[in-house]
Amino acid sequence: MDNETINPVITSQQQFDTAAAYIEHLQKGLVDFLKKPKHTHIVHFPIEMDDGTVKTFEGYRVIHNRVFGPSKGGIRYHPDVSTDEVTSFAKLMTWKSALMHLPFGGAKGGLVCNTKELSQNELKRITRRFTTELFDVFGPDTDIPAPDMYTNAQTMAWIYDTYDVLNSGKNNRPVVTGKPLALGGSLGRPEATGKGCMFATQRFLSKALIPDLTEIAGARVAIQGFGNVGSVAANEFHRQGAKIVAVSDSSGGIYTENGLDPDDISAFKQEHGTVVGMPNTLTLSNAELLECECDILIPAASVYQITADNAANIKAKLIVEGANDPTTPAADAILNQHGIYLIPDILANAGGVTVSYFEWVQNHANEQWELDHVNEKLQKKMVKAIDAVFKRWQDYRVGECQCPEAVEGVPPDFRTVALIVAIERVAEATLVRGLWP
Ligand code: NAD
Repeated sequence: MDNETINPVITSQQQFDTAAAYIEHLQKGLVDFLKKPKHTHIVHFPIEMDDGTVKTFEGYRVIHNRVFGPSKGGIRYHPDVSTDEVTSFAKLMTWKSALMHLPFGGAKGGLVCNTKELSQNELKRITRRFTTELFDVFGPDTDIPAPDMYTNAQTMAWIYDTYDVLNSGKNNRPVVTGKPLALGGSLGRPEATGKGCMFATQRFLSKALIPDLTEIAGARVAIQGFGNVGSVAANEFHRQGAKIVAVSDSSGGIYTENGLDPDDISAFKQEHGTVVGMPNTLTLSNAELLECECDILIPAASVYQITADNAANIKAKLIVEGANDPTTPAADAILNQHGIYLIPDILANAGGVTVSYFEWVQNHANEQWELDHVNEKLQKKMVKAIDAVFKRWQDYRVGECQCPEAVEGVPPDFRTVALIVAIERVAEATLVRGLWP
């Protein structure tokens, strides 16, 4: 990537600065506060491995903001995880929660490890010790983790159990979300992010901004990543009448003009460990998938997939960011020039944290809601958030909202508008609370 420096801190700063330039009267001191994490916790601890050796692990929990309530965000286990990456994701969580009107701030956690090289018992010991190290940080009303890459419902069960053992006699279920159903997990949580992507797209398309693409039915959809988010999105879009023309996983992608049945893809992947090689499909590289002929492209794998190098080759009319941070700022500018719309991560994939919030509410009330109730509430939240961002985006175009001189009268794109709305809400709440002392 010759044209741009890709670094999570720089990227999230650029996105923030672009949005902040549209918010007049945002005091510099407040900008500094909103840019920086509230707390960064770095922990090290030794673990006895199955073979009797001892290994030291490094983990992070970054709390970006707590203006609206307890901080909320996933924990990822990955060899490349860093404080920079975790900090930028913690910020995304603040904006995402604000955009969805959830009473949460933003946080993120990470542990440097390769889960593929660890046994279940080692993972359990690591998770329990990591939880112990962060015992004073986590709490049902202070900081609430959730699963992220290479962590899952089982990891959350271990965190809950450890926390509850150390702090017994209370209802500690709301200390984590994304738990197994048996421990108070919510119906609909595993599907929430992919389903939320579908609800967001449905609402966005209904605004009739893209000629010949006003509904999901009939749209050709390409999805990068066939994990939790990608596979559920494939099912949801297929159920709405879309043609799933391409999907991929870390081994590569497949394409067919005629469309694929997501159940067949799942069955094939279950048997062969990858989607590649499915009968009657063309094999694509992951780079080719992003540039294939389609109407809607859903990056649902990892960061920085759409960059200055490939943005100009994208043929989709709409990009729906299932993954966090899949598009770089330079790519955003190119997509804009090419008239390609994009529903940004903090809006498109906010279904996950939204149903996590529902889980937290159910846990506090010791209730279990029906699946239909969860999905109806999710749809309402997604529709409301899309409408708020869309209205503001339109206001900039019809002159209801003035673009400050600092941005030379250029109206902001959807990512920027979503960020403007979120930042304004957090800034307003900060000032209304009053700066203490
Ligand atoms: P996952 O681990 O279940 O799935 C990831 C998928 O991406 C796998 O199929 C993997 O093979 C594939 N993949 C990895 N690298 C790839 C590459 N370079 N090209 C193509 N495919 C690749 O993870 P997930 O939970 O589905 O999360 C995916 C993304 O969505 C992440 O960015 C995550 O932060 C974001 N996200 C997830 C949730 C959630 O609720 N799960 C919520 C919000 C955002």
